[in-house]
Formats: sequence, C-alpha cells, structure tokens
Amino acid sequence: MTTKQPLIGVLALQGDVREHAAMLEGAGARVRPVRRVAELAEVDGLVLPGGESTTMSRLLETFELLDPLRERIEAGMPAFGSCAGMILLARQVLDGRPDQRQLDGLDVVVRRNAFGRQVDSFEEELDFAGLEGGPLPAVFIRAPWVEKAGDGVEILARVPDVTAAPDAAARIVAVRQGPVLATAFHPELTGDERVHRLFVGMVRDA
Ligand code: GLN
Repeated sequence: MTTKQPLIGVLALQGDVREHAAMLEGAGARVRPVRRVAELAEVDGLVLPGGESTTMSRLLETFELLDPLRERIEAGMPAFGSCAGMILLARQVLDGRPDQRQLDGLDVVVRRNAFGRQVDSFEEELDFAGLEGGPLPAVFIRAPWVEKAGDGVEILARVPDVTAAPDAAARIVAVRQGPVLATAFHPELTGDERVHRLFVGMVRDA
C-alpha cells in the first residue's frame, strides 16, 4: 500500500459518490469506487457517502459487503462517513428501520432524520476542532445527529445556536474515534476540502 498518495475507496452502492471522489482527488488521494469485496480489499481507506442509510444497508447485504466491511473497520482501516455514512458507522441508530444494519465502527448512538421535526435542510458555519482556516461551511440534508458518544469518541463539531434549528443547538454533528471519522453534514457539497484533507491525512498516517 502506498503512503504518499493513498488509494481511497468510495462506497458506490448509492448516494453522492462522485462528489466525494472529486473532493478526495482534490485533497491528494487516488480514488476508486467500491462495490465488491475484491475492491474493498485494495483500498487504504473508505468513504461512506451521504444518501439513504436504509437503502445502503440493504445493498451492503445484497452485495455481501456488510461483514467484510465491518471486519476491515474492526482491523483499523480508516473510514469516513457523511450523513447516511455516519448512520451506517454508528453502533446504534434511533428512528431507524428495524432491519437496518450497523457497521459498529463508532461508539455513538445517532438519531436518524433528527432535524426533520424542525427543518429538513439547512446550511451553517461550524467550529470544527483542529481545522485551521476559520469556520467550516456545512450543508445538512435530512441529517442525523449524535445523541450519545462513548468516552473514546472525540467531539469535533456541534450545531451552533442557529435560528433554523433552535432546538438542535449544541447537538454533536462531527466525531472521530481513532481512524473513524463521521460528519452529520456533507463536506463533499461545499467546495471546502478541509475535511477531506483531514481524512486523507488520517489514511496516510494509518
Ligand atoms: N436521512 C438519510 C438516512 O437516513 C440520510 C440523509 C443524507 O445522507 N443526506 O440515511
């Protein structure tokens, strides 16, 4: 496996695959779509895109990727999930579908469609721990939030006090646990590459 220009997979069963691929390339990685076990075996890290977690869960089972992916994450492969990807990576999901499966890569409980009661989609600037260059623009689309995070989970960002979602203030929306990174929002949609650069760095360091 190369260290200088890591090969990063984007789980390409459903969701905004192209946007992540473009951001990863911009951030200095080589990118490969991942749909099969053989492709998963080749990559140094994996992005789980936004989309619909219940559909992705079902497709992971259909493509027989669920267990191999869980095993690679358990073995320390860096992974980054945005929105639906965060839901898949979580230990537990609230307001999910009963048959929806979890990868258990992050010791967090997420609530699916958590902002939905107030507002479906919104954009906000976030303070993101460790990112230089000022607040991070963040697009939330039927997003989850982290309802509970275990002791080993680093909290990187919370919802600021915004009028779009007043009851959501201070909810956790970005976390990291070792080589696993997750955001409730979509950094692939803003043109700001800092989160992808952070992840590419994590893959290089792994
Ligand atoms: N609500 C979606 C889900 O449950 C996530 C939305 C998104 O990824 N933009 O998976």
